[in-house]
Amino acid sequence: MAQCPMCGKPVDEAAVRAATSQTAFGAREVDPAAGTRQFHDGQWYYFDRLECRTKFMAQFGTGRKP
Ligand SMILES: [Zn+2]
Repeated sequence: MAQCPMCGKPVDEAAVRAATSQTAFGAREVDPAAGTRQFHDGQWYYFDRLECRTKFMAQFGTGRKP
């Protein structure tokens, strides 16, 4: 079980993967209600909700140069 790096809540990786299986590298999620993830600095980070990912991205960026 992954942990949200922003608030520390547990994140169901399988559910997040299922919801984001059609996307990669931060593309739009099909259903972010179950949680979401972001590829950053060589690894996937899992978030319990979109708000936490937004905070994370604001703090650390996308890891990709524009
Ligand atoms: Zn969180």
